[in-house]
Amino acid sequence: MLFKNKASVQYVLTLYSVGHNKQYKVIKSDTNRLVVRCIRDACPWSIRAIFSKKHELWQINKCKCPHCCTSLQVVTNGQMMDSRFISIALKQYVREDITQSIKDLRSMLYAKCEHDVTMYKFLAALDNADPDTVTLLKCDPHVSGTCIINSAFWAFGPCIRRFWHCRPVISIDAMHLYVKYKRKLMIAMVTDGNNEVYPLAFIVVESESTETWGWFLACLLSHITNQTNLCIIFDRHRGIQSCFDDTTRGYL
Ligand SMILES: [Zn+2]
Repeated sequence: MLFKNKASVQYVLTLYSVGHNKQYKVIKSDTNRLVVRCIRDACPWSIRAIFSKKHELWQINKCKCPHCCTSLQVVTNGQMMDSRFISIALKQYVREDITQSIKDLRSMLYAKCEHDVTMYKFLAALDNADPDTVTLLKCDPHVSGTCIINSAFWAFGPCIRRFWHCRPVISIDAMHLYVKYKRKLMIAMVTDGNNEVYPLAFIVVESESTETWGWFLACLLSHITNQTNLCIIFDRHRGIQSCFDDTTRGYL
């Protein structure tokens, strides 16, 4: 069985494991070889795939099947599906309809694999789908032992690449979110050569403050552009103003 790359082998292995409610662990993984075996030591199931120089493709050349372990103990919370698997599994659906909501994509994934996955993995899948896409999460520092998300930053790869050809002017502002999550959505907008405005980056936070605006500005400068002499247009919100007044941040 031949595959175009190692990621394709990993996708098929995960798809098989999810479908059969099994789990595997990686024994060896490098540029020429991938060896996995069942997570249960008593089970003999294992697969070895290698890069075939003859075909310039990946090939499964050793297979000890089937599993003899029970499936009942394996949870169906998407633990087996990593972000790369999710990005490949959902790419086709997103290409067909780019207005698909995360809720719908989550339902599709559940219908396909009968596993539910967390928002963390969806954000990580965005990262995997485009190498320039940036997603960052911040956990609530007051809750220890687990990560309760209190802020999320994201910017899509095509928007970032387009900005490289735009004038160095960014408008930032915030708006209220209503319905279920009453938070603030901060947006960075830019204008292209045709004078058309488009969104560059987003962040969802609890409220506007020096801390949250500071994080947004830091994300923009660290992950979107390292360009100096940027012009930032804003509504003189105190949180933003105090960031620029703070000379230790190096914005001026
Ligand atoms: Zn097994």
